[in-house]
Amino acid sequence: MSNIVAIVGRPNVGKSTLFNRLIEQRKSIMDNQSGVTRDRVYGQAEWIGKFFTVIDTGGYVVGSEDVFEGAIREQVEIAIEESSVVLFVVDCITGLTDLDKDFANVLRRGSKPVIIVANKADNIEKEYMASEFYQLGLEGDIFPISAQSGSGSGDLLDEVVKHFDDVEEEDPYAGIPKIAIVGRPNAGKSSLVNVLTGKERSIVTDIAGTTRDSVNTHYKAFGKNFILTDTAGLRRKSRVKDNIEFYSTMRALRSLEASDICIVMVDATRGIEGQDVNIIGLADKNGKGIVIMVNKWDLIEKDTKTAEKFRKDIAEKIAPMTYIPIIFGSVLEKQRIFQVVEKAIEVYGNRNQKISTSELNKMMLPEIEHYPPPAIKGKYVRIKYVTQLPTYKPTFAFFCNLPQYIKESYQRYLENKLRKHFNFEGVPIQLFFRKK
Ligand code: GDP
Ligand code: GDP
Repeated sequence: MSNIVAIVGRPNVGKSTLFNRLIEQRKSIMDNQSGVTRDRVYGQAEWIGKFFTVIDTGGYVVGSEDVFEGAIREQVEIAIEESSVVLFVVDCITGLTDLDKDFANVLRRGSKPVIIVANKADNIEKEYMASEFYQLGLEGDIFPISAQSGSGSGDLLDEVVKHFDDVEEEDPYAGIPKIAIVGRPNAGKSSLVNVLTGKERSIVTDIAGTTRDSVNTHYKAFGKNFILTDTAGLRRKSRVKDNIEFYSTMRALRSLEASDICIVMVDATRGIEGQDVNIIGLADKNGKGIVIMVNKWDLIEKDTKTAEKFRKDIAEKIAPMTYIPIIFGSVLEKQRIFQVVEKAIEVYGNRNQKISTSELNKMMLPEIEHYPPPAIKGKYVRIKYVTQLPTYKPTFAFFCNLPQYIKESYQRYLENKLRKHFNFEGVPIQLFFRKK
């Protein structure tokens, strides 16, 4: 279900180099991905058909290198709680340091599997250095790699995927939409959950180290069946201000991983902010269905144009993710809550639809003929046909003579036409170009 791999370690050991390499693995398979911008701190990776999310915790560390207390320490704790496997990166060139030991102490107390990655093992001598890290006293093998050249990363990944749970087959709730409610603190998530579930729940658990595996609860509201993947129910208060963003990103990722669709709640009194856009971007990258609820609409002074202005502002800020439905409402006044749930379930249907190859080509080939991909270096690029791949999120493969010449702008054109002919409201779609 949700496989999250967190990369931790002191600064300069090569965390982000490793991160880029893991993301790279996937990019080489899925060439010509439809243009979502890649973010530095989290990304999707794949190994032998298993997909997972990688987090580079280093991207968030602020403050000085040798202060383990505070932000860094807490970040390791969060990473342990929220991930399936932790990659603890150490450096064969500098060898074992006190800061490494500090990390190890925290990791040892966590309940998650830890894999020691002895990086910068660029040659045999340095590889021998790796055995020094057995002194850290952590369970399991040490994997010497060179993040820079990639050597050793295959063995490492073989080990990583052993720790994933394969719950897919025996999901007792298959076919019932799983909804995550995400958004910034104070947007109204818990209030919405309370209204939907009809009960008050304690919302703040302030005990560090509480297990936070996502809890799925099956509900029936407004005559609809759905599962809420728990997100708002448990909340940790970050002790360190710097980590609030890191923590909420981890939370959002966790609940997104466990869901099919998310309702992104935005506080109308604050408008859409960078963090909201990040959350929406996460959902988009993870291929989840998305509905935006602009909440606290009761607090806004309105005239006939207010909603349109809001809509335009949101569209500009989340461009190019313009396929997302936006609903204005108020949890407090129980206004448009039913519409939000109904829309989420509709988006679930859009995400699950399978379009036949003949139907696709009937609609898309004339569009391609009408506006063919521009010739490059005097070569004509010809798209022969398109088919939907049997994946759980809508993915389309276009077969053509020169896939490498399909530009991003043309991919956008194709995506727009797919959206014009078929209803993918609220659903990110992916396009691949394959040689034929
Ligand atoms: P981070 O702070 O842990 O994210 O570390 P970076 O990924 O930024 O890497 C720190 C430095 O180590 C950079 O100069 C990298 O080029 C270098 N580095 C990363 N991986 C390797 C490796 O496998 N071998 C060597 N020799 N250097 C590496
Ligand atoms: P969370 O942090 O996203 O779970 O947000 P909460 O559900 O705890 O809500 C934060 C605050 O906003 C609480 O004081 C709620 O009563 C209030 N709130 C939630 N929804 C609405 C709404 O639609 N209108 C108004 N005026 N306040 C709301």
